[in-house]
Amino acid sequence: RAKDDGRDTIRFFLPSMQAAADYRLALEKELRHAIERDELSLYFQPQVDYHGNILGAEALIRWTHPTKGFISPGTFIPIAEASGLILSIGEWVLRTACRHLKQWNDQGLGLTHLAINVSPRQFRQPEFVGQVQSILDETGVNPSMVCFELTEGLVIDNIIDTIEKMQGLKKLGLQLSIDDFGTGYSSLTYLKKMPLDILKIDQSFVRDIETDANDAAIVATIIAMAEHLYLKVIAEGVETRPELDFLKQNGCNLFQGYLFSRPIPGHQFVDLLAKGIPQTGS
Ligand code: C2E
Ligand code: MG
Ligand code: MG
Ligand code: MG
Repeated sequence: RAKDDGRDTIRFFLPSMQAAADYRLALEKELRHAIERDELSLYFQPQVDYHGNILGAEALIRWTHPTKGFISPGTFIPIAEASGLILSIGEWVLRTACRHLKQWNDQGLGLTHLAINVSPRQFRQPEFVGQVQSILDETGVNPSMVCFELTEGLVIDNIIDTIEKMQGLKKLGLQLSIDDFGTGYSSLTYLKKMPLDILKIDQSFVRDIETDANDAAIVATIIAMAEHLYLKVIAEGVETRPELDFLKQNGCNLFQGYLFSRPIPGHQFVDLLAKGIPQTGS
């Protein structure tokens, strides 16, 4: 393959790169045992309506390493994805999230949904829809209360296969949303063809709503477009009152972010449901 490299290519391999590669490999090795060693857990971040009432939550994975401590999913999910470990981790997430949801429903907590992240490799498994069906059956959860968050990149790669699989999931009764919406390249043509329920506006746009007129315009446009396509729209990464006000003025109806709550363990989420979120209502 040397021929493909330009003549002027200079290859660097710095000691720091070696260290990074070693670290990745070590993490991958340890991640293999994380499930059986009970090091993984789910946190839940509330998703609230216009009045600040908690309707549901997004399940977010956490890894507490015995010696390295907390490791961010931003670090280990890509490793899991590249190594294929995401398949067993994803299954664990799905089962654990559904168990929580079932328990909360049995307690009569009045949630409408729980959002679960699905990685591209997990979604691409030929037997994915069947696996989801078994977990729904096994946990006895109401499928219409489960919302899968798919990324835009996943959705535009191999569109025919994607739509077919999405339809399979819709037949099971699930809700589907696109996560980090606006950062990928999905065209309107595709969006129209996909059996979607929700668009989730990426937090990078929300973050700069107040300072960047372009981002404000993008957010307003995504909300208007969602309305035309009869999709619900949720904003992630809502941190400030002015961001919330802008989103509300532009017709956004669901919100998630530090302004309301950080992701928290299940028992804290239940407490928060009982108490409600202070001073966020309009
Ligand atoms: P995501 O699905 O887009 O999740 C949103 C991320 O934004 C979460 O980071 C959340 O903690 C963070 N966040 C929420 N509100 C705010 C806010 O107001 N400000 C800021 N700055 N950040 C906020 P987290 O938990 O570190 O997860 C990072 C990413 O890792 C997720 O992005 C998702 O892509 C992935 N991930 C997390 N859990 C899972 C999982 O169970 N399965 C898969 N496949 N991926 C997961
Ligand atoms: Mg997500
Ligand atoms: Mg996101
Ligand atoms: Mg901000």
